[in-house]
Amino acid sequence: MILETANDAFIGMDPDGTITVWNPRAELTFGWTAAEVMGRRLCDTVIAPAYREAHAYGLEHFLTTVQGSLLNGTIELVAVHRDGHEFPVDATVWPVRVGGACSFNAFVRDISDRRRAEEARKKETTLVQLLQSVTVAANQSSTIEQTAQTCLIQICAHTGWPVGHIYLRTNNSDELASAGIWHLEDEDRFAAFRAASEGCRIAHGTGLPGCVLASGKPQWIVNLADEDPLPERTCAAEQAGLRSAFGFPVLVEEKVLGVLEFFSLQTVQPDAEFLAIMETIGSQLGQVIVRQRAEEDLQRAKASAESANRAKSEFLTTMSHEMRTPMNAILGMADLLSESSLRDEQRDYVRIFQKAGANLLDLINDILDLSKVESGHLELESIGFDLAALLEKIIEMMVSQAHDRGLRLTLEILPGVPSGVVGDPKRMRQVLVNLIGNALKFTEQGSVTLRVEPDPGAAAGWLRFSVVDTGIGIAADKTEIIFGRFTQADSSTTRKYGGTGLGLAISKGLVELMGGRIGCTSEVGKGSTFSLTAPFDIRAELEPPELAEPAAIRIPALGPGAQQPVSRILIVEDSEDNIVLMNAYLKECGFQLDFAENGKIAIEKVISGNPHLVLMDVQMPVMDGLEATRAIRQWEAKTYAHPIPILALTAHAAEGEVRKSLEAGCTEHLTKPIKKATLLEAISRHIGGKIRITPPEGMEEFVPNYLVGVRRAMHEILTGLDAKDCKIADRVGHQFKGSGESYGFPEITRTGAAVELAALDANEDEIRSQLVALASFLDHVEIVAKVG
Ligand code: ADP
Repeated sequence: MILETANDAFIGMDPDGTITVWNPRAELTFGWTAAEVMGRRLCDTVIAPAYREAHAYGLEHFLTTVQGSLLNGTIELVAVHRDGHEFPVDATVWPVRVGGACSFNAFVRDISDRRRAEEARKKETTLVQLLQSVTVAANQSSTIEQTAQTCLIQICAHTGWPVGHIYLRTNNSDELASAGIWHLEDEDRFAAFRAASEGCRIAHGTGLPGCVLASGKPQWIVNLADEDPLPERTCAAEQAGLRSAFGFPVLVEEKVLGVLEFFSLQTVQPDAEFLAIMETIGSQLGQVIVRQRAEEDLQRAKASAESANRAKSEFLTTMSHEMRTPMNAILGMADLLSESSLRDEQRDYVRIFQKAGANLLDLINDILDLSKVESGHLELESIGFDLAALLEKIIEMMVSQAHDRGLRLTLEILPGVPSGVVGDPKRMRQVLVNLIGNALKFTEQGSVTLRVEPDPGAAAGWLRFSVVDTGIGIAADKTEIIFGRFTQADSSTTRKYGGTGLGLAISKGLVELMGGRIGCTSEVGKGSTFSLTAPFDIRAELEPPELAEPAAIRIPALGPGAQQPVSRILIVEDSEDNIVLMNAYLKECGFQLDFAENGKIAIEKVISGNPHLVLMDVQMPVMDGLEATRAIRQWEAKTYAHPIPILALTAHAAEGEVRKSLEAGCTEHLTKPIKKATLLEAISRHIGGKIRITPPEGMEEFVPNYLVGVRRAMHEILTGLDAKDCKIADRVGHQFKGSGESYGFPEITRTGAAVELAALDANEDEIRSQLVALASFLDHVEIVAKVG
């Protein structure tokens, strides 16, 4: 009874394998009725022909040994239905003793459904894996071509099909052309097919790719020879043994960008599920390609922006160079003019001339600075320094300017500010000097305070610097725009206070490079507060802040110089104006001057004339200064000659240019426009005590005492400056101006005029640098009597 209703087929056998029991489920499973199978051998009735031999062997083994792998367990077998179709079964077989002989019974279950479900699951899994791996690989590829290639490789590996190829839509038209991207298992075998495919354009709706293009859906061709109406391609495909094919579109917003096609060597029936996955892959590829195109566009835009930026920087560098060259002549001549005897009125004119020239130079420097900040070419230093020392130096430097305007300038360092920090002290100083300079400029009475505190609104390590003034203030709608380029709070500002409107733009750029922010709050008539906040690392060990200006100068005593031959200086310069200027600067200093108008002539003159020092312009026709310097250094190395000091004297001011000069072998890099004092100081540093001065006749015996007096007076100026007193500089400068020339020292007259002028502006830095230059000049002076 149980067997009648069992869900599994039950088969009973006698010892020789003849069927004796066959329940109703067995009838359903195998298609034989019980009556039909009685007396038939099990092996011939239910075992699939391919497995019968193995089964017969297993049965024989069992009958002789009563042992076998089938027994007492469930195994999978391939069974055969009466209609001949084969199907998988689970069989549970166990032995039975019938009399003395042994037989066996079995429960058999058709597992076709389970197997189908398993296979479907497996296929689904591998398809999902394929989808995943294609998507991941495509996302990792950096170019569209690489993405396409990866995709072909992966799909061919999955299907085992030997050919994969990509067509792309040509310029948005309704045609496809080969992208030339293939995966071929055998290049030679498929060469003709490849040539045929690449040689033709595929029209909308024609052949496999054309149908994919037209439908926007995957397509499958079971037999290429029958179905693909592309004669040449089809012919080549057939000859290469290709049989079936499928293709799918790369889709972006329902638009076909291209078609991927694959070919097999066997005839393969369409697989709808597989094609559905291919369709998804096509859309995924579309997304990846869109993203990659956007990235490529971005890269292109970035490259073109960078090149525009480079062009702008180059333009500014060239412009600055071109402007500095005539400025050198203008400022130099103005300086020389101020040294000559002039009426007071004329002296005033020259002063305006000098001041306007200096302003123009500031503007050129500001524009260069701004362009560097904006183009991202400016690199900040990161060094540990003593913050308090830096701030004190800044205040010290600006306090006399404040006093002259009747203002108080104070520094407040609030608790919690570390003494040692890591950052760029030079740039920090530039920003703060600009803010304090503005505050002093725009304040008529009251005070200016520089306050530093840990930024209360930010994370640890952030410091806030505020410059608070009691000045004219700024209208609320202007507090932001003044940080833009060339913007001033109101149009009368330039007229009344001067300035270019670039300082705050540069400061903002610098602070942002430091990773900080800058802003302003203000009330018209009450004053303004400019605050910058930036992150700093704290540093335990400190380096002194590196400042451009020397804190103090040393004036060594004048020693009795040994007799030296006249120094020969070779001036390499192509601008006639600048040659006149150099001549005027140096002619009275006892040098023997020679000139070369380009680098090539300079090399010849160095070799033949053996000068003691070369002043080398950089940009010149025929051969530039750097190339000439390199050639001179090579010649020196080859001939074991002592290296001559070569001072690059150029209108190129960018930091990179200094490096280039030094790399080419220049000893020093000087920038035009150059002041006479700076030039003489640099020359004297390199050629030692060789500046020969011939005093006017009859004055020789008074010169030594005069020079001792000059040095003493220079000390006095410095002592006065230490006490923030510029009056001594004013008085002594005036004396130098009147006396120097009559003793044969126009340089002392020139310095005197410059010191007097700087004292009027309370420009302490300028006074100090004039004195440094004069001291160095005097150190190298040698008095010689007139010959003959
Ligand atoms: P400049 O001072 O050379 O004009 P800046 O960029 O430094 O250029 O300043 C831009 C403008 O911002 C100034 O012209 C002025 O109108 C305004 N400004 C800056 N600082 C102050 C201040 N402390 N008080 C009032 N106005 C100021």
